[in-house]
Amino acid sequence: MSRMQLHNDQIKLGARPADKASAIREAGDLLLASGMIAPAYIDSLMRREHVSNTFLGHGVAIPHGMIEDRHLIRQTGIAILQIPGGLEWNAGQTVHLVVAIAAQSDEHIQVLRRLTRLLQDEAQLQRLFTCTDPALLIASLSDETAPAAPAANAPAAHDLEQAFEWTIDYPNGLHARPASAWVDTAKRFDATIQIRHGDESASAQKLIGLLQLGLQHGDRLVVSASGPQRDAALSALRDVMIRVSAQEQADAAAARNKAQQAQQQGFTPDNAKMSIGGISASPGLAIGVTQTLTAQTRAIPDLPAPLAEDGARLDQALTATRQALDTLALDTARRLGATEAGIFHAQAELIADTDLISLCCRLMTEGHGVAWSWHQAIEQQAERLSALGSPLLAARAADLRDVGRRVLAILLPPSATETLAHSANTPTILIAHDLAPSDTATLDTTRILGLCTAQGGPTSHTAILARTLGLPALVAGGPALLDIPDGVMAILDGNGGRLYLEPSAADLDAARAWIARQATQAAAQAAECALPAQTRDGKRFEIGANLTRADQAPAALAQGAEGVGLMRTEFLFLERGSAPDEEEQYRAYRAMIEALGGRTLVIRALDIGGDKEVPYLGLAPEANPFLGVRGARLLLARPDLLDTQLRALYRASAHGPISIMFPMVTSLSELLTLRAACERIRLSLNAAPIPLGIMIEVPAAAAMAERLAPHADFFSIGTNDLTQYVLAIDRQHPELAAQADSLHPAVLRLIKQTVDGAHAHGIWVGVCGGLAGDPQGAAILAGLGVDELSMSPRDIPAIKARLRASTHSALVEMARQALDCDSATEIRALAEEIA
Ligand code: PEP
Ligand code: MG
Repeated sequence: MSRMQLHNDQIKLGARPADKASAIREAGDLLLASGMIAPAYIDSLMRREHVSNTFLGHGVAIPHGMIEDRHLIRQTGIAILQIPGGLEWNAGQTVHLVVAIAAQSDEHIQVLRRLTRLLQDEAQLQRLFTCTDPALLIASLSDETAPAAPAANAPAAHDLEQAFEWTIDYPNGLHARPASAWVDTAKRFDATIQIRHGDESASAQKLIGLLQLGLQHGDRLVVSASGPQRDAALSALRDVMIRVSAQEQADAAAARNKAQQAQQQGFTPDNAKMSIGGISASPGLAIGVTQTLTAQTRAIPDLPAPLAEDGARLDQALTATRQALDTLALDTARRLGATEAGIFHAQAELIADTDLISLCCRLMTEGHGVAWSWHQAIEQQAERLSALGSPLLAARAADLRDVGRRVLAILLPPSATETLAHSANTPTILIAHDLAPSDTATLDTTRILGLCTAQGGPTSHTAILARTLGLPALVAGGPALLDIPDGVMAILDGNGGRLYLEPSAADLDAARAWIARQATQAAAQAAECALPAQTRDGKRFEIGANLTRADQAPAALAQGAEGVGLMRTEFLFLERGSAPDEEEQYRAYRAMIEALGGRTLVIRALDIGGDKEVPYLGLAPEANPFLGVRGARLLLARPDLLDTQLRALYRASAHGPISIMFPMVTSLSELLTLRAACERIRLSLNAAPIPLGIMIEVPAAAAMAERLAPHADFFSIGTNDLTQYVLAIDRQHPELAAQADSLHPAVLRLIKQTVDGAHAHGIWVGVCGGLAGDPQGAAILAGLGVDELSMSPRDIPAIKARLRASTHSALVEMARQALDCDSATEIRALAEEIA
């Protein structure tokens, strides 16, 4: 192990930072100036504070970076910020010495050892808090042979009454996190427990003493105990030592991998002059020059023409726009899914609005030109929507203006419409206040390689379109984005949601290498997507696809789907004038069964209501449709819909295996009534029984999972709805939806309750909401014990790769820790640190 040298330039005496963040930054700057770290490690020091408390006690704090960022350390070392006046670290904790640690492997244990010795010597510490000679600090912390404070751990002449031996196998030795797990366990027992290493021993109930032992990988320990609960204490302690080991090994392996990747092809923008952060909206890395899209508001000329001529032009423009939207919707549905394609269907509906067209025609008959009239009609309608004060309606107004521009582009000569000032052929990162579908749909993707918007959320149009187009994107970057001049060289990190400006040549090389590595990785994942999602220690998870139509099945199977975990049937009912009859439904279900050739198929009964409106069903308007007659409630209220669908499903079941799943079930009585309906239809058709399951997407169902499980054959958790109902955030709310992260601990706790309830009664439980297709989410869900994950086919290769890279025990441990977190952000940080 290398010794940590400490020089004057690593010490700043008499500092007076304004707050904790400034103190960490100042200490980080010392590490940076001494050439020990890359600049990004300072951010890592900051991030650590969100996941753990670095206050050591007795006026000393030890900020250190995240494990996965060790590759940003150039050389092991420490830096010291002395704050004679004291600084509040966390509530009630005053710090006088900030010891920032950059340790490539286990050297930090030596620093901790020296520090913890110092903590025992109050008088010496007080001198260090106010000394004006850095030599005193250097002598106390950098020299192994410097006179140390008296050792707290007395030499152990003998062990206590009962003992076991154990060799520490934690790759990074005994550092604070595993040590506190030992202490937490040891404290629960009425026993004296001692850990001995050679001649030194410490109480297992005292953290500082334990750390002082400076235990490293391979050290042989004697753990002994006496007292009334001696045996139970030793057994519990042995368990925790071994349990922590799995996590420590996994952490170390992950850190090694990360460092290796960083070394081989990593993208670490060390030298970018500036960066702007936002929310990650579409993954990937793009390199290009910035170009800001400024919306040019322009006067629309009023050029009257004969009414018949203008009428024909309006009709042509509307037809052409509708065709363009249909093509875009088809393309989007194929590349992303039906939900995402919905934007364009909605826009097509908007321009078919009778009020809008009659208003335009009225203006034309009053003697105005078609373009002017159209523009006025759009503006009037949009203003009416915006004035109602609802964010959802405001988003609709933006949609209306957007589609209005599309029509206008046809009505006016092309040169007069809004265009991007393209600088030919230069790879570009486009910056905008926000982007409308028409902006993104007309992007020249040979030139525009990435998108950044000041506004928007991860489910905004920009995000969806960027993912459709496969372009890296960040949203919600704030107004600072719009101040960036055109033509600045930049790297956009869509995964991290950050735009780096003026990167160095080395950063550009690193980014290019990263892009190449991603391409190789995607190809490798695709090549392995047919392999099962089996963890390294042999636990296998079923992987299904979420599909709507049989023609999507071959592509899903090619991407590694093992079956269909969710076939949404709403598509059969949407965008038409009447409900599909039994025959039409039967053919659709049978086609899916045949396309899957005997693989698992879960068909979900109609989930209409909420955001999915079907005018011909004549449903009464509701103030809160998501809390109204939706899913199972509608099916139970409308036997015409339920019975027809069940008849079609039972008839189709003669052609291959299917299960029926009911959406939005809230109570046992609903489940029992639905089961009774199934049985009635089954008997009338003389069909064989098939598994009947329910979606768990209402908090009440999750809470009652144990009571529902005896009456269901399986559960599938709908995390999209479960999240909106648990967090009270409308899943389509344009501003709040970004906060509706399904990895919120409240959602995870309900999922755990659901899994426990299902398994207590021997039924399987899957997840078919969006969380299943999120690599961090899938890993935690697997750790929580779900048996199956069903997702958009395009997510399958990455999810399989993520699960195959882990051990089941590590996933279980990660899920256990996640349940103990306070926020989704904390859980994502944990998952990232571990992965
Ligand atoms: C869900 O709610 O998670 C789900 C899968 O159902 P849908 O998205 O169709 O409401
Ligand atoms: Mg749902």
